Amino acid sequence: MRRFQQYVNGNFEDGSVSFESLDPSSGQPWAQMPEAKSDDVNRAVKAASKAFDAPEWCNLTATQRGKLLLKLADLIEEHVQELAEIETRDTGKIIRETSAQISYVAEYYRYYAGLADKIEGAHLPIDKPDMEVWLRREPVGVVAAIVPWNSQLFLAAVKIGPALAAGCTIVVKASEEGPGPLLEFARLVHKAGFPAGVVNIITGFGSECGAVLTSHPSVAHVAFTGGPETARHIVRNSAENLASTSLELGGKSPFIVFEDADIESAVNAQIAGIFAATGQSCVAGSRLLISRKVKDRFLELLTNKAKTITIGSPLEMNTEVGPLCSSQQVEHIQALVDKSQEQGAKVLTGGRPIEKEGFYYPPTILDCSDVKDAAAIQNEFFGPVLSILTFDSEEEAIELANDTPFGLASGVFTQNLARAHRMIKRIKAGIVWVNTYRVVSPIAPFGGHGLSGHGREGGIEAALDYTKVKTVWLRT
Ligand code: NAD
Repeated sequence: MRRFQQYVNGNFEDGSVSFESLDPSSGQPWAQMPEAKSDDVNRAVKAASKAFDAPEWCNLTATQRGKLLLKLADLIEEHVQELAEIETRDTGKIIRETSAQISYVAEYYRYYAGLADKIEGAHLPIDKPDMEVWLRREPVGVVAAIVPWNSQLFLAAVKIGPALAAGCTIVVKASEEGPGPLLEFARLVHKAGFPAGVVNIITGFGSECGAVLTSHPSVAHVAFTGGPETARHIVRNSAENLASTSLELGGKSPFIVFEDADIESAVNAQIAGIFAATGQSCVAGSRLLISRKVKDRFLELLTNKAKTITIGSPLEMNTEVGPLCSSQQVEHIQALVDKSQEQGAKVLTGGRPIEKEGFYYPPTILDCSDVKDAAAIQNEFFGPVLSILTFDSEEEAIELANDTPFGLASGVFTQNLARAHRMIKRIKAGIVWVNTYRVVSPIAPFGGHGLSGHGREGGIEAALDYTKVKTVWLRT
């Protein structure tokens, strides 16, 4: 069985305790992971605190920090295949997606490498002739980064990149589900030449490792991606030290198709929008809001396509939908499907786990047209299940789109430009995609409102989250 190590203060360690990680395509253990206990977490935070003030790190210029990030990006690019295979084995995410996403992860580090020496302060034209006043942007301190199990390298990159560009040090807690790729990534951090303690990567369970890390008095900022319930624990934990938080949480994103849309292209976008990453994506377009005028045509095309999706081993290049990450995910999805059916939702395809070894669930479409408050409409599946509601007017589409406590992403499909603008203005979500879906870029901020969290990842906004302002007054 493969063994992974944690990375603390520049050293690779087995950890005092370990746990088995399952291969979701077989349900069998394939690797041993080091479980960080309180002692390990405290050592990692201590190393990050020491590194923050150590001359090897704090005396580097922003350009020098940028160069280290560029080196890291090059190393990631050289090791895409290796990292992708580990992520696929450990989480079940299909190899086509892990390879493509990890190549893109390198671009995020490059973006933040370039941004490092462009995080600027300001000079203030103060109304006193004998004073010079300016603002310095300084790194906030030690950052705790907590990531969920899907897309761990990507979700860590959008935290590590801006944090290091700003001059912070960081302790990353990989999810206990599928931590392999991040633990392996630590080897590239080491090779890139970051001073010891600047980046520490551990894994463990939320109740101990996560709780100790986020309540640690030396942590200045907690960057979290995960579910809203965990976010509440994290905010409570960090409140004791008044650490700042950025929260990237779940979603129940509306995918709105008007009668004037290019139907074929909207169907293709919907298929990718919900079934990519086997539905385990925070921005999954999981609520289809369809104009009654085109409903029948749209659903016929959609259901036919969903039925032909290739389900199989995540390591095969032609697989389009692989296993879910864990058996609990399968149970969670089935419970929501069953409840929705009891409430009156109709299954158009899928709806039962696939009977084979591993944690497989098929692409599923639920018509909830007559049951607006069905469990499938209200709750995040985080799996390959699309729920459908029908609307008769633009006003009703907006009402349905905003009828959710979440506010992460949204999609609008229409060829009417004025209507697109009206929708952009009125949809309550952090991202609006028009006639496209799930496009991301390091340059574009990403994040949500309401139960989807606050703070942004990507873009300059994210880097500023890792800085604090110092106002300097100098008598001349
Ligand atoms: P989760 O909230 O259960 O776990 C996320 C992380 O938090 C894990 O590392 C876990 O160990 C840790 N954790 C658990 N309890 C903790 C505690 N008390 N203190 C500190 N840390 C703790 O989420 P999950 O099930 O792994 O992931 C799925 C969720 O993540 C979904 O809701 C999904 O929408 C969300 N997500 C959001 C985004 C985004 O960018 N908005 C991206 C991906 C996933």
